[in-house]
Parts: sequence; structure tokens; C-alpha cells
Amino acid sequence: MKYFLEKRSNPKLLSLVIPCYNEESVLPHLKERLTSFLGKLQTKIELILVNDGSVDNTIFELVNWSKEDKRVKVISLSRNFGHQIAVTAGMDYASGEAVVIMDADLQDPPEVIFEMLEKYREGYDVVYGQRIARSGESWFKKITAWAFYRLMKILVHKDLPLDSGDFRLISRRCLDALNGLRENHRFLRGMNAWIGFPQTPVFYKRDARVAGETKYPLQKMLKLAMNAAVSFSPLPLRFSLALGIIVAFVGFFVGAYALFRAFQHFILEMPIVYNPGWATIVTLICLIGGSILISIGILGEYIARIFEESKNRPLYVVEFVKGISESKRLHK
Ligand code: UDP
Ligand code: MG
Repeated sequence: MKYFLEKRSNPKLLSLVIPCYNEESVLPHLKERLTSFLGKLQTKIELILVNDGSVDNTIFELVNWSKEDKRVKVISLSRNFGHQIAVTAGMDYASGEAVVIMDADLQDPPEVIFEMLEKYREGYDVVYGQRIARSGESWFKKITAWAFYRLMKILVHKDLPLDSGDFRLISRRCLDALNGLRENHRFLRGMNAWIGFPQTPVFYKRDARVAGETKYPLQKMLKLAMNAAVSFSPLPLRFSLALGIIVAFVGFFVGAYALFRAFQHFILEMPIVYNPGWATIVTLICLIGGSILISIGILGEYIARIFEESKNRPLYVVEFVKGISESKRLHK
């Protein structure tokens, strides 16, 4: 795609949105690295740290940090809502002309933001970090992530960039559009691809977590993948239709064959071995029963989402904020 880019200067205010869930061991490192990094940035900064219902001392660390540093703003959610929602809460409060979303564990090196800002000045609205290497992650995580991104490109959006997470810089106009999408089941990268705007990657090496362990166990990853697939594409529904057609087709021929054999045996009284067809029946029952259940399951996923959305609940509940006014919040 060809973009019409207009050069601009650095954002007057840059918001860094960082979700934190049980990150007490990470926060001292984050604080040190960010403090020295922010000194080198030419722009005004606000740090929006979202406590996503941590059960450790994360919130105490965050509140103390906000007392020491006026740039630090804390939003504490009333419970654990999950990474994608925590980021959404942060984006709702961000007042910067551009926003950077990054993880607390320093897997996304803050220094990449220099390059992101360079692209922002060139006129890009979305600058996403694309990984060229991952260190400190198991082969299992690497393989599942590899497969995940390829599958999602098919299911979610053809413009979904490969090998990039939520680490990205977003301009104000794109953020406003993104904040307008209030669906419950959120897959921010896909929503961002759907919105469009001029986008470009910056390449970086994804470091290992500085401390603690991943807050994204397999179960949460599968949930995210499911959200991505089902919230964005009717393809799984079509898959169940296709499956139904194939099974019906096979069933038709097996049935026709059984009738033909019965005809030979009873009407023509041909001397053929005619067994009562136990195997056929069992096979057919399994095939048809299985495909019906799969189809109902897929249908159920969509209906569950309609149910969730029809409740029209807020995406998250804020317990309290520090260093920022509640009125900054975009969606109540
Ligand atoms: N996180 C969150 N809520 C959750 C899970 C994770 O806010 O329910 C945050 C976490 O604190 C971190 C970021 O999301 O800042 C990414 O999580 P993590 O590093 O554990 O994921 P991974 O990098 O292993 O995929
Ligand atoms: Mg991480």
C-alpha cells in the first residue's frame, strides 16, 4: 500500500502505557532503565502504569514510584482483567499526542522508542516492533508463537504484521479510532490492523524477561488465539458448514452403497455376503455425531460472544487512580 506521509515533529507529550500483573520483582529494573532512558528523550513523557489486580506488592511499588516521580500515573483495576484490557484501560487515560504500549518486564527494550519516534516524525501513525530474535524463551513458546502469527494472518486480517506483539507506537488519531472500538473480547493487534492508517515496522531483538516469570501461560495464550480467530472472522463458522457438507456427502454415498447391497441381496437374491452392516452404522454415527458436535461448539463460541456483548458491560472497573485525574478517562 502507498501512504501519503506528512512530516511532523515529535509528539508534545508521549504516553507510555505499561500493564503490570504481579511484577514486583520487575519494577525496580523497569524504574531504573526507564528513568535513565527518559532523560535522553527530547519529548515530554507520562508513564501510565496499570495495575491489573496483582496479588503481590506491585501496587505499593507503583504508588511509591508515582509519589517520587510526577510523570508516573497509576491506574489500579479492581481485579485481574487480563493484559489486553489492562492496556485498553491505560490507553483510555493516556493524553499524549502519541502512545507507546510496552510490557513491564523489559522484553521490549525502551531504546527502540527512539526509532519509533523517527518513523513517527516521518508521518507514520503506527510503528510496531517486529522481532528478529527471541532470547530466553522455551522452544515451545517459540514454535507456538510462530504458528500463532501465521494462523492469525489468515484468520484475523491480511495486514496483521507477523512476529509482532503489542509493543508499538500509535498516533493520537489512530488511538482515538482504536479507543472507539469497545468490544469485550479484545485482540488489540487485530483491531489495530482493522483500523488501518500508515504503518511500518521497526526491527528489534526481544530480550529475556528481567525477572519473574511469564504471566501468559498456555491457557491464556489459547484464549487470546481463540479471541483473535472468533472475534475477527466468520471462517470457523464456514469451516463447520464445509465439514457438514463433506460428511453429508460421504454419508450419502455410504447410504446409497448400503441400499444397493440390500437390493442385490433381498430383491435380486444374489448370492452375495450381506452382513447387517454394523461397521457402517457405527462409522456413520461417529462421523455425523462428531461433525454435529464440532459445528455446535463453533456456533456456541459465537453465541457466547453475542451474549457477552449484549450485556454491554464496561470493559474494566477502576478501583482508584494516583497522579492522574479520573476525568481523563475516555470511556466511563
Ligand atoms: N499482564 C497483565 N495482566 C495479565 C497478564 C499479563 O497486565 O493478566 C502484563 C504483564 O505484567 C506484562 C505484560 O502483560 O507487563 C506481558 O506479560 P508477560 O511478559 O507475562 O507475557 P509474555 O511476554 O511471556 O508473553
Ligand atoms: Mg514478557
